Amino acid sequence: MDIKANLEAIKKTFINQHCRLIAVSKTKPLSDLKEAYAAGIRDFGENKVQELQAKHPEMPDDVRWHMIGHLQSNKVKHIAPFIHLIHGVDSFKLLREINKQGKKNGRTISVLLQIHIAHEESKFGFDRNELEEMFASPDFPLLGNVRIQGLMGMATFTYDTEQVRREFKTLKNLFEEIKNRKLPGFVQMEHISMGMSGDYLIAQEEGSTMVRIGSAIFGGRS
Ligand SMILES: *Cc1c(COP(=O)(O)O)cnc(C)c1O
Repeated sequence: MDIKANLEAIKKTFINQHCRLIAVSKTKPLSDLKEAYAAGIRDFGENKVQELQAKHPEMPDDVRWHMIGHLQSNKVKHIAPFIHLIHGVDSFKLLREINKQGKKNGRTISVLLQIHIAHEESKFGFDRNELEEMFASPDFPLLGNVRIQGLMGMATFTYDTEQVRREFKTLKNLFEEIKNRKLPGFVQMEHISMGMSGDYLIAQEEGSTMVRIGSAIFGGRS
């Protein structure tokens, strides 16, 4: 795998040059991360707390670590001191725990709310009702150590590109709707994290501001 060449090739295809590229390095060895770092990458995405904990001290301080996987509340404390952005916040309970750990660490932790947009049960995320319930909760405005920076979603794993596009449109529409609502000041809708190796171009066409790309950079995972 020529990681540098892959990165250059991917960047060339970008429709939006301002879209942030998160290099998804899960399961990959540190040597691969260092190669990507040398090629200019500073945003790395991982989906396991343990792997984040192991890789974080081995990489330079200016790396921005993104937690992109499903996160269990009892593991938040391990990444709270250093995590740059948690993409997969899918419950109020998890958000409250992140807030608590943010307070403990004297930090405001940035998060994205994961929205269930796929026609697959296996994927995580808030549905519409859960989101409204959280926004309406009297506890919601009290969160002082989180910053909600936007939404994240994963499309259905399918070759039907029109379905993928529809799901991304749903996320974008919801993003705009929330952005235009009166919500507490820590809700600052700036980012839509959508798009992976197989669908990042559709995602960019539909307004993605962050794509999470793994295999197209680092090769397949076993
Ligand atoms: C693994 C993963 C990716 C990257 O997938 P690729 O198809 O390898 O680009 C993106 N987002 C999430 C949430 C992932 O778990």
